[in-house]
Amino acid sequence: LPEQEAFDIEYWLLEEAKLQRMPRPRSLAGRVALITGGAGGIGAAVADRYLSEGACVMLADISAEALEATQARLVQRHGGDMVRSVVMDVTDEAAVARAIAETAVEFGGLDILVSNAGIASSAPVEETSLELWNRNMAILSTGYFLVSREAFRLMRAQGMGGSVVFVASKNGLAASPNASAYCTAKASEIHLARCLALEGAEAGIRVNVVNPDAVLRGSRIWEGEWLEQRAATYGTDKQGLEEMYRQRSLLKRSVLPEDVAEACYFFAADLSAKSTGNILNVDAGNVQAFPR
Ligand code: NAD
Repeated sequence: LPEQEAFDIEYWLLEEAKLQRMPRPRSLAGRVALITGGAGGIGAAVADRYLSEGACVMLADISAEALEATQARLVQRHGGDMVRSVVMDVTDEAAVARAIAETAVEFGGLDILVSNAGIASSAPVEETSLELWNRNMAILSTGYFLVSREAFRLMRAQGMGGSVVFVASKNGLAASPNASAYCTAKASEIHLARCLALEGAEAGIRVNVVNPDAVLRGSRIWEGEWLEQRAATYGTDKQGLEEMYRQRSLLKRSVLPEDVAEACYFFAADLSAKSTGNILNVDAGNVQAFPR
């Protein structure tokens, strides 16, 4: 359809739904999304949001156990037809290619990639081993490259455009104490997104970034070593950290997985059809962006 006509029809459908008090049309109906780190806190929230908008979702994660639990939860909420899962390590080139191919076979293509799988590590630079540095680069920087490269290959071949969303981090823009490997890897994700936005534009492949501030609730990152190290860096416990992040935000609100999912929804949907190479910080107005 010509662009204006498509817009008019969508507008009319929304108005009609409002008049008849019908549920509004589901805006990702017929779209297929692959979410890496889909078994984690943010990934699962994004999957839930996309499924409620009618998308088919492939969850990809390194943890088979976490995948099984997340998939079961999502099937209970949305039914079993629209959600599948695949065990995949984002650092394994062949496994990434297989997961993308499996998505195409299961659901008939790929329209949306959410690159989100991640870890977090904290150590002063003098105590950052080469192994720790390389692990951050492999999973975050290289992992995001490998997954988007395969998605680009498929999306370009399909010839129908697509949307790639990177869940990076506020720490990719602002430095955080004792986390140089993590912050540097996250910064490289953001720059990779800009490069890919440039390369994908002609084929209608949009690439955008969502930068969360600390999301303590629901995230497994905040259960292990990262929590202990952050707690030591700031001299407090998990509750104290959550309160610290809340207090230092302009809006005095904690960021939740659902808040990040909402931003990922915006970049996946046609609402953001004119946005590419953009960054949306979901940080309640963090003090590092607005020093005072
Ligand atoms: P999470 O630990 O709950 O989820 C991350 C998921 O990634 C896990 O399910 C894990 O199994 C998976 N994963 C890890 N390594 C993988 C690999 N090699 N291959 C495939 N999957 C792998 O954490 P989360 O908070 O949901 O984090 C999601 C993303 O958000 C990460 O990229 C993280 O850096 C980013 N982020 C999180 C926060 C936060 O405070 N939680 C803040 C900013 C950015």
